[in-house]
Amino acid sequence: MRRTAATLADGREILYYDRDGAPPRTARDVRELPAHESLIEIRRDPLLDEWVVVASHRQERTHLPAAEDCPLCPTRPGHATEIPEADYEVVVFENRFPSFATGPARLEPLAPGVERRPAAGRCEVVCFTPRHDSSFAELSAERARLVVDVWADRTAELARLPGVEQVFCFENRGEEIGVTLHHPHGQIYAYPFVTPRTRRMLASARAHRDATGRSLFADVLATEREAESRVVAERGGWTAFVPGFAR
Ligand SMILES: [Zn+2]
Repeated sequence: MRRTAATLADGREILYYDRDGAPPRTARDVRELPAHESLIEIRRDPLLDEWVVVASHRQERTHLPAAEDCPLCPTRPGHATEIPEADYEVVVFENRFPSFATGPARLEPLAPGVERRPAAGRCEVVCFTPRHDSSFAELSAERARLVVDVWADRTAELARLPGVEQVFCFENRGEEIGVTLHHPHGQIYAYPFVTPRTRRMLASARAHRDATGRSLFADVLATEREAESRVVAERGGWTAFVPGFAR
């Protein structure tokens, strides 16, 4: 895997991930974009003991543009996108409308009594393929493997950022779940806190270990492999399954 780093017109980072032998990635972002500024903070909800993200700019983000205006397609003459190159394999860039960001942050003036912090962290977009009408399921095994390697690279790097406590790679698919762009892509959130669901899973795992001396995840996996009926695929060290308690 070859990684090429570059900078977009407003200072955000873009990273091209290619197999060895792909053409060099040298295109420059020719767009005129306003400087990247974040007005984001997290505030603590004392009733639920949770952090809430307050981002004032996310209302203006791109929402379901026509295919010819897609910002995740490669750049072509007359249509400059988020990806300056005319082609790519897998590409990662900083989200223009992030929920978390490093760098200077201004906290809006607010009445006292609210516990709040700058939302240190980073939000990235991962484009799985330059083909607008494709999907993750249609990727070749080789390309899917490249995406997995990219997730591993980003997780390791983002986990080292100061203030980051959890890194989560995910794909939202379908308008029902709030997807605003149809191009096959995922997102990576580097959070400045451990998310509530993860916190509960860690507590469950600890309680299970205290009660049984065993790993909760290993026990769930063993149960599903024994039941067999919900196993989707098994290869090498991997098992994909739909848990019996799936919603
Ligand atoms: Zn597209």
